Amino acid sequence: ERKELENFRGKATKALSGEEYELFCNIGKPEDAIKAVDADGEGVGLFRTEFLFMDRTALPTEDEQFDAYKKAALTLKGKPVIIRTLDIGGDKEIPYLGLKKEENPFLGFRAIRYCLKHKDLFKTQLRAIVKASAFGDVRIMFPLITAVEELREGKALVEEVKAELREQGVEFNENIPVGIMTETSAAVMIADILAKESDFFSIGTNDLTGYTMACDRGNDDVAYLYSPLQPSVLRGIKYIIDCANKNNISVGMCGEAAANPMMVPLLMSFGLTEFSVSAPSVLKVRKTISAWSKAEADKVAEKVLAMTTEKEISDYLKTLL
Ligand code: PEP
Ligand code: MG
Repeated sequence: ERKELENFRGKATKALSGEEYELFCNIGKPEDAIKAVDADGEGVGLFRTEFLFMDRTALPTEDEQFDAYKKAALTLKGKPVIIRTLDIGGDKEIPYLGLKKEENPFLGFRAIRYCLKHKDLFKTQLRAIVKASAFGDVRIMFPLITAVEELREGKALVEEVKAELREQGVEFNENIPVGIMTETSAAVMIADILAKESDFFSIGTNDLTGYTMACDRGNDDVAYLYSPLQPSVLRGIKYIIDCANKNNISVGMCGEAAANPMMVPLLMSFGLTEFSVSAPSVLKVRKTISAWSKAEADKVAEKVLAMTTEKEISDYLKTLL
């Protein structure tokens, strides 16, 4: 099987009917950038920067972060590197930040919310990312957006950082794209608004599934609800993609669902333009995409959208594998 997959190495990611997709990799550490390249990823669709902040006792400095982001940019040699700003809280803890224990960490003071209230920490990270944009196709992505003000405030800070760097004569990409994770039900509901002010969307199905279903996947008693094939989650995904395409911004998926062979035809039909998956999944997803024509994927999606339960949908999609 591995050998067969190797036939897809170095190829474009194309549907049977010829439509092209971008197939990126998710990475956690800057050292993993080489794994993305070795796996034949066409870019990095999600660089989870939390790892730079974890397993240590103090914040990483701007230089440490700059080195990490620059290294990823150089390793990818001009291919896109989407760097997600700090996404702490929820399931991701950083002891030295002294975050308060919360009753509902997933509904709490986390990710972009925390960063916008800790502007020094946030601007340090943004400065490191913007500086790294001189070394490749670096893009900025904000996690957990729920209201357009968060995007506006984040973008305003990026502009502040750019102004400061310009002043100091530091080189960077003036047009560095700024996009968001669409991973909350709020972001789904206002995807039309967000798409007008965001350079790209990336759908985070890990969180989107949990928030849409009001379901903690770590809780065995409710985990049965946790599925991206729930009609509610699929409608959310479709709406996000529709809004992105209407506004001519690119729309990717970096949650686990992007590598699920049952999801692939649906995502192709909905109009997803970029898949971002773990390194070992790259060739598999390229192969899966290559097996579907757009017309066949459309037929599947039409059937699925008419179904009313997760079970009906997953039973049907399993028959296609
Ligand atoms: C997601 O929520 O789908 C996602 C990609 O982000 P993370 O898993 O890091 O929360
Ligand atoms: Mg997430």
